Amino acid sequence: MTAIASTIYRWSAGQVEALEAPLRIRSCVLDAGPAEPSAVDLIDNALAAVAQIAPWVTAFFTPRLYQLAPSGITAEAPCEPGSESLWGISWASQNTVVVSYYAENTIMGTTHHEIFHALEPQLPSAVRDRVRGAVGAARCYRGAYADAPIERAARLFEHFAEYLDEGGTILWPAPLDPARSVHEALYWIYRGDFARWRADQAAARAAEAAKRARRARRWAALRQLIGA
Ligand SMILES: [Zn+2]
Repeated sequence: MTAIASTIYRWSAGQVEALEAPLRIRSCVLDAGPAEPSAVDLIDNALAAVAQIAPWVTAFFTPRLYQLAPSGITAEAPCEPGSESLWGISWASQNTVVVSYYAENTIMGTTHHEIFHALEPQLPSAVRDRVRGAVGAARCYRGAYADAPIERAARLFEHFAEYLDEGGTILWPAPLDPARSVHEALYWIYRGDFARWRADQAAARAAEAAKRARRARRWAALRQLIGA
């Protein structure tokens, strides 16, 4: 059963805002469209995943998502059953993702997939290399776009998260080392360790900048004192 939904949910810094469709972001249109009522209920779960894995990301949940060609003509069909759907999109440099919530069986997978795209460029290189090394060479899976390592890495995380969400478990020698194996790398991201590591790095950079500023002020005061 589907109903027409027109509310876009925007998550940013822990706050959820309801916006009216349509909304244009870059080349994409977030629009009203059919959505299973049960899919709307799942947005809370998807938001919890964003909060845990990549809380700095701004995430939009929209009933329908499609992309405009540069000419302004719709290049990709909207998210409707049986069509070529644009389930989600990510702009890593903007820390922004968009997820279509029209169907309940896609929302969690798309959320995990798109937030992986958003966070991958920011991973420590040893962790990123571990994941990219696991996907290896293209296997002519579904075509050039789907075979690209960036897509395969995002699907790997998407399916790994689904495995854990379904109750799957993984064992490794403690403590967890995200540079040691691909499943440790993915679990490190999934359970929010990367988000904490990233926040710690930012705090350390801010503390270092504050220290440099204090030192500069002291030197300026000293130079003034000695008339240099
Ligand atoms: Zn993708």
